[in-house]
Amino acid sequence: MRWPFFKPGALFPANAIAVDLGTANTLIYVKGEGIVLNEPSVVALDRETKKIKGVGLEAKRMLGRTPEGIIAVRPMKDGVIADVTEKMLRYFLALIIENHVFKVKPRVIVCVPSGITEVEKRAVRDSALGAGAKEVFMVAEPMAAAIGVGLPVETPTGNMVIDIGGGTTEIAVIALSGIVSDTSIRTGGDELDMAIVQFMRKNYNLLVGESTAEQVKIQIGSAAPVGDEREMDVKGRDLVSGIPKTVRVHSSEIRDAVQEPIQQIVDAVRRALEITPPELAADIVDRGIVMTGGGALIRGLDVLLSQETGLPIHVDEDPLTCVVRGCGRILDDEAKYWSVLAT
Ligand code: ADP
Ligand code: MG
Repeated sequence: MRWPFFKPGALFPANAIAVDLGTANTLIYVKGEGIVLNEPSVVALDRETKKIKGVGLEAKRMLGRTPEGIIAVRPMKDGVIADVTEKMLRYFLALIIENHVFKVKPRVIVCVPSGITEVEKRAVRDSALGAGAKEVFMVAEPMAAAIGVGLPVETPTGNMVIDIGGGTTEIAVIALSGIVSDTSIRTGGDELDMAIVQFMRKNYNLLVGESTAEQVKIQIGSAAPVGDEREMDVKGRDLVSGIPKTVRVHSSEIRDAVQEPIQQIVDAVRRALEITPPELAADIVDRGIVMTGGGALIRGLDVLLSQETGLPIHVDEDPLTCVVRGCGRILDDEAKYWSVLAT
């Protein structure tokens, strides 16, 4: 099995680990060291025995191209935690724990979607304990994202964060170390990929895989015109002839194709603003809204949201790592942030 990217020879004494268990990507941070693992949340399993055949990037490369006996699954997709999540988390954590000198068993913070159920929480906690954690704490994803961005979450000032992941979008208003209101929808970057798959089928009779659709989204996708129109060759299988073919698509077509999920995100932001208490709403007018998560990288979404809400929208510089960096800050300054943790 491929070894995830460790800095060679990195053997630091450490005692705390933070995990961002995302629907698309899992990131792990070791206190005193930084981000040590960043892998897709994908597991390849033997169809019969359910034995693990690959985890992370290796498994993601198998998505949509697995031979008969192997299935590649995304256990956190749509925010649903299955027993495979447990296997994946245990696998990633065990890799990190085995490769560090922990003088004592490490404490582990796991960042979970805020809509997670008690049963799902227990599964996460048990797998972290099973992998060698001494204690497990949970932190809600939008809280971690806000801390990662550097927002003053502990003050009475209201801050709004929009975290757009693969399977979910979470919008939260945060003040005094708590989540004051939380709006979460099961629409994220994946829905855009699916919309592109459907568009290619309907308009070009072309069947494309989800990974291809994701590439199209990343390369030429946009939520609003940003004055940077592009074209791209897309390969797939012709639905009529059954033969592989290539078609050239324009960014404006893809923009139309993803309109529906984009509109769902815009509507959720509107709803979140509507339920924000007035004092905090006034803070948000002054401070604007911060976007995090990989979905925040779709071109023009900040412009569109700003038009739709009349508020300033900021995208974090590195939206894919906000959550794990936030968990890292919690570990670095536990005295300041202990109140955002739950067991
Ligand atoms: P999660 O927290 O659910 O694991 P992430 O924050 O890691 O999700 O974001 C993953 C999503 O971001 C995926 O849908 C991916 O396609 C999307 N994404 C990543 N990079 C880009 C980009 N440059 N442009 C648009 N979408 C992107
Ligand atoms: Mg996330």
